[in-house]
Amino acid sequence: MSCIFCRIVGGEIPAEVVASDLENVAFLDVQPLADGHVLVVPRAHVAAIEDLEPAAADALFRMVQRLAGPVRQALDAAGTTIGINNGGATGQTVPHVHVHIIPRWPDDGAGSVHTIFPRHTTRRLPDVATAIRRAAAA
Ligand SMILES: [Zn+2]
Repeated sequence: MSCIFCRIVGGEIPAEVVASDLENVAFLDVQPLADGHVLVVPRAHVAAIEDLEPAAADALFRMVQRLAGPVRQALDAAGTTIGINNGGATGQTVPHVHVHIIPRWPDDGAGSVHTIFPRHTTRRLPDVATAIRRAAAA
């Protein structure tokens, strides 16, 4: 069992666990981007969000929703940025699904999700929508 998140889930590596249930464990990121940076991980080792069982995906998002308010309140934050790096090309360094909950303050110097991207598009919206609808129906 070499996956660091599986080892945390299994209690093999200590972590600052802030919540857990039958499906998930939530703990502080050891390299936090801000105070209160929480990771929510499913107990099952699944690399990509699309590979989660539907019930596991439901439970994962329920835990994220359950913690968003407490994280904000505990850190006296103005909001939270919630995100998933899904796949190695996105910067996902641990191939075990994890949702970041990062407290935000008006003067924290970080941007929105939109600031991650240089807004590079080449295809027309209807063509892209058609392609996605076809793939989703398959
Ligand atoms: Zn794992």
